[in-house]
Parts: sequence; structure tokens; C-alpha cells
Amino acid sequence: MIISVASGKGGTGKTTVATSLARSLGKVQFLDCDVEEPNAHIFLKPNIDQKKPVGIPVPEVDKDRCNYCGKCAEVCEFNAIVVIKDKVLIFPEMCHGCGGCTYICPENAIKEIDRTIGVIERGTAGTIDFVHGILNVGEPMAPPLIREVKRLINHQGNTIIDASPGTSCPVVGAVKDSDFCLLVTEPTPFGLNDLKLAVGMLKKLSIPYGVIINTADLGDAEVENYCRAENIPILMTIPWDRRIAEAYSRGIPLVEVLPEYKEKFSNLYAQIMELCDMRSAI
Ligand code: SF4
Ligand code: SF4
Repeated sequence: MIISVASGKGGTGKTTVATSLARSLGKVQFLDCDVEEPNAHIFLKPNIDQKKPVGIPVPEVDKDRCNYCGKCAEVCEFNAIVVIKDKVLIFPEMCHGCGGCTYICPENAIKEIDRTIGVIERGTAGTIDFVHGILNVGEPMAPPLIREVKRLINHQGNTIIDASPGTSCPVVGAVKDSDFCLLVTEPTPFGLNDLKLAVGMLKKLSIPYGVIINTADLGDAEVENYCRAENIPILMTIPWDRRIAEAYSRGIPLVEVLPEYKEKFSNLYAQIMELCDMRSAI
């Protein structure tokens, strides 16, 4: 069972929910796929014992073989390779490593070299098998690193995926193939706007979802009204609590500072299972 945790808007408490759910489930795998800014390790404090650099293959041209025919540039959808007269220019940061140019080159003039984009770290945090990806600073290619993190999914048990906020490519890459997605939001106009975008994304991906409203007693009732009108299950509400905010600032999971939430998160998991069972019975 793969449960992803996402949020249209940043700062809604997504990692608080993801780490507390993990801490409430016992033996579980946790993948932090928010590779541009992974922070779940601050709360789960894993002992990291494995590190692996991750790269993508980018082209390198052998000038002695190249006849400057331009076919590599024509095939590149990302303008990462350009041929100007007797020069082939390569822009590695724009290259998606698709291999198209190497395949099309009639002179066999292109070989692929690895460009490191980040690192994967793996370890344990109590009963949690912890994995996160860390993208190099300024590196735009998050999706290939997210794919590598997700290659480590253990399909025998439960996996929680912490996605980055928003609805862009890295989020789609993180949540796709999930059995269920939790959307964490806040009851504000911005929260509602971004929740609607996230719901649209999950509908396109055909992933079942439910909502958690954080700081539920602040703001207005529009998020709740929207969920009821759209038949979206509200699986949990978390009121604003100074103790939660303080624990967050000190890197302590919610369920450790307020242990009564462990049962709430276990119930949340049971609700998710039920919703997934209902869906598979249709
Ligand atoms: S396709 Fe090959 S031969 Fe043609 S310009 Fe590109 S690298 Fe050179
Ligand atoms: S590997 Fe793909 S993305 Fe990169 S330069 Fe070649 S065609 Fe473009």
C-alpha cells in the first residue's frame, strides 16, 4: 500500500502529517520525495547507513566523427543540444537524459556521460525504513531523482511518500502510482485555491484522495464547504495548537508531543484502507 502525502500549498503541515502517520504505523517505509527541500529526516532522525549518488546520462560529442548534420538538435525536445555551423553546443542542465540524440546520430559521434544531480540516502528510524533524495543545489532535474528514490519502494508493506508542495512535475512524479493520496490543506482562500489544483491533478492521475485540514479552527469554512460539495472525504482536522507549532520548530513529530494523536493517525490509516477497499469493490 503506497500512501502519498501532498499539499497544493506549501506550509500547510504536510510533513507533520506524513511523519506522524509513519510514527503511528509501526513497521513502515518512508520516502521523502520532496528532493528540493527534504526535511522529514529532521523529525524522524534516521541513522543513515547508505548513500548513493544519482546521475543522468548527458551527451558528449566526438568532434572527429561529427559531420554537423543537426539531427541530434532536431530530435531534442528540450533544446539541450544545438548545432551551429561547425559547433555542437550542449546544455547539460536542460538535458533530460532521454538518449534520443545518441540514438539518432548517424555517425555514432555521441557517447553518454553521467552528470550527477543528487544523492539518495537510506537508513532506519526505529521501525521505519527511511529513504530520501537530496537534489544538488540549483539543479532543475528533480523527476529523475524522485524516480530513483521510488525504485526503492518495498511493495510487501506500507510506504508513505512525502511529496513536495504544489502540482508541478516533481509532485506528479512523487504521487503517481500511489494507492491513495492525502491532501493537507489549511482553511484559507490560498489553501482552497491550491487544494482545488491538487484535486484536479489527482483526478487526472485517477488516484483516490482525502483531505486533512490543518489549523482547522483558524480561517473560514470554505475548504469544508468545497469538500462537502465535491464529496471529498475530510479524514482529519487538526486544530491550531501552540504545542504543535513549538514541536515543529524543534523538529519533534506531532505524535511525540501529543501522544493522543497516535490513535487518530491509526484511525486515519484505517479510514484510508476502507476507502481503498470500497473503491476496489466498485
Ligand atoms: S547527429 Fe551526430 S553527427 Fe549529426 S550533428 Fe549531432 S552529433 Fe554531429
Ligand atoms: S539526451 Fe535527450 S534531452 Fe538530452 S540532449 Fe539528447 S535528446 Fe536532448
